[in-house]
Amino acid sequence: MGRLLLVSNRLPVSIKRQESGQPALVRSSGGLIAGLGPVHDGGDGEWIGSLGGGPVPGDVKNELAKQRLVAVEVDANDARRHYEGYSNNVLWPLFHYLLNHVTFDACDFEAYRRVNERFAEVIASRVKPGDRIWVHDYHLLLLPAMLRERLPDVPIGFFLHIPFPSSEVVRMLPRREEILRGLAGANLIGVHTYNFARHLVSSFRRIIGLEFNDDGTRESGQPSRIGVFPLGVDVAMHQGLASAPERARRVDELRKEFRHRKIVLGVDRLDYTKGIPLKIRAFRCLLETRPEWRDKAVLVQLAVPSRDGIAAYKALREEVEGMVGAANGALEQNGLVPVHYLYRSVSPEELSAMYLAADVMLVTPVRDGMNLVIKEYVASRLDDSGVAVLSEFAGAASGFGEALLHNPWDVEGTAASIERALTMTSDEAAHRMKSLRHRVATSDVHWWVGRFLAAFDTATSELNDFLAGTSEAKTYVSREWVRGCVDRCAKARRAVLALDYDGTLVELARTPEEARPTPRLLEVLNALCIDPGLEVVVVSGREHTSLGEFFADVPVHLIAEHGLSYRAAGASAWEHLFPDLDLGWRDAVRAILDDFVLRSKGAFVERKSASLAWHYRNVEPGFGSWQARELVNHLNEAFAKSPLEVVRGHKVIEVRPLGVNKGRALKTVMQRFGELDFIFAAGDDRTDEDLFATLPVSAYAVKIGRAVSLAPHRLATPAQLINVLKLIARARAALGQ
Ligand code: UDP
Repeated sequence: MGRLLLVSNRLPVSIKRQESGQPALVRSSGGLIAGLGPVHDGGDGEWIGSLGGGPVPGDVKNELAKQRLVAVEVDANDARRHYEGYSNNVLWPLFHYLLNHVTFDACDFEAYRRVNERFAEVIASRVKPGDRIWVHDYHLLLLPAMLRERLPDVPIGFFLHIPFPSSEVVRMLPRREEILRGLAGANLIGVHTYNFARHLVSSFRRIIGLEFNDDGTRESGQPSRIGVFPLGVDVAMHQGLASAPERARRVDELRKEFRHRKIVLGVDRLDYTKGIPLKIRAFRCLLETRPEWRDKAVLVQLAVPSRDGIAAYKALREEVEGMVGAANGALEQNGLVPVHYLYRSVSPEELSAMYLAADVMLVTPVRDGMNLVIKEYVASRLDDSGVAVLSEFAGAASGFGEALLHNPWDVEGTAASIERALTMTSDEAAHRMKSLRHRVATSDVHWWVGRFLAAFDTATSELNDFLAGTSEAKTYVSREWVRGCVDRCAKARRAVLALDYDGTLVELARTPEEARPTPRLLEVLNALCIDPGLEVVVVSGREHTSLGEFFADVPVHLIAEHGLSYRAAGASAWEHLFPDLDLGWRDAVRAILDDFVLRSKGAFVERKSASLAWHYRNVEPGFGSWQARELVNHLNEAFAKSPLEVVRGHKVIEVRPLGVNKGRALKTVMQRFGELDFIFAAGDDRTDEDLFATLPVSAYAVKIGRAVSLAPHRLATPAQLINVLKLIARARAALGQ
């Protein structure tokens, strides 16, 4: 296997100039780097990211190259608008459901797009055959599709480290379609929790009409799947820090410093997603309602400086510091202040000592992709003591049943959880902590990397199979292919030609009535039908009366309504191919389709004998697709248990009885023809895929147009297909003579 290229907005290093002027690289810390660092160090791939904005000096580039790091140089202004603008003033707050913090500026999005483009250019220039690319996080959501366009056969993985919100929230995202299409360029999209995956699936479906199922999707022109991979921490490192002898000394010092009160610890980046004001209110509520805790408990809050160039973060700092001052002013007792607030970052050793000194870890985000702090606390509690109080809105909560889960918005409820933690018996605490420790240890950061890469292997094979299976289909067939096909058909004893109608035998028109068979088509079909060794079957989604009328004088077999009715060649009567269908849902569905006609000027309902179709080709294009998605969502949800299926065709939504499709119908009809030694099928839209799916591999399956298909061969237009049919008629007639 080739190299793995890691891509993140920032490279995992910062640059320090030594006294000699020489640049030195300092590895950044953090959970993600702990996980990806060993993958990078142990492999031979490159890590591609920026160092912030502006040009990167040559000596720095050389230094980076020694560690296989590649800097993406980004214009300084673009870098600022990309990072502080669209990434952190739009995506970050919106994906955390904090809509009041969203500030959209169209120029920021332009910069976001340009920075993603820059990444795509640099990656495309570095990639070698066999390489795979793993992109990280919300700063680079457009990158997968940009890479896909440049590098169609390179496997692309993506991991989102922040939450993915409900589709109702994603609908509010400015440039939502472009963002979702960008992400859909990846072959594997990883998120932390099942909830996020579910939201991703419904956003793809509702907002850009891209359907994922258990096997992912191929509708975006390549295989793509979504996976759940909860990020873990470097447990061995935290255990090492916690068991170092000097740690115990520092823990004693901390306990003394806080005068042996019970320590409730908060460790957060100073970010409005972390619920720090709610945490202070909850702790204050506890001390006000239970004054006996005033000299027995202290809240130690470490607030790590973060994104302080952004106004919302400055405002948060002021708010938090004001609240700490007010709480301490109101509740100080015997010289003891209730909240000990530190605005800084600390070393890993000091953080470990703080984790060990804390009786209770209090984590209160209003939304958090995962939250590593709670996992680090658990990993550090080697003696199974300590209690974790965790917001149910942290991604970590889904695997943390033994923590005291709470809703941070419920201040009194959080206060009660803190008190429950402070008064928990050591037996109960140990019992809970033991289970949590086991879970954190078995799903650490290395496990996370391994799981993602294993799924990426699967996604890679899927892409390779897909490319192998469809590379031929990407181009239209050659003259030689046509000659070979015609020749095989001419020599066949019993042959069948199964042909879709709209978009395959005739060009699509504004209304179904306008798409009548051309004289040329009728002439070719008549010529084919003279041949007793050839069965011509028109397999259509159309209603039987219009097909019957179009082909009144042509002795072709007709399959109407995707297989519901059948008229044998030469017969005048229609028969039901599947007579025992439950159609009890039709009136209710019809009422909904009529309602959608009223809402969308230009739409109309076509009523067929068993199915119903809602056509929107004459509706204003953007609005039509939007209404179509609404309709599909509504039908899928309202009729989930009814024996019907909702099928999207070209500018038409068809509701039909479950299990009836063109493939099943053709198979039933072909059984009546006896043994066949040549099968040819052609179709242009999704419903024809059912047809292709049932054909034996020896069949000649032809897609009309460019869309992704199971059919391995392709023709551009109905006119070209008619040419092929004409050649077949001529060749068979010539051999028959
Ligand atoms: N952390 C740090 N410096 C500090 C305090 C904490 O680097 O002074 C680390 C902490 O160990 C943890 C990370 O910051 O690994 C915070 O990760 P989390 O997932 O909890 O929140 P995020 O900051 O990613 O939103």
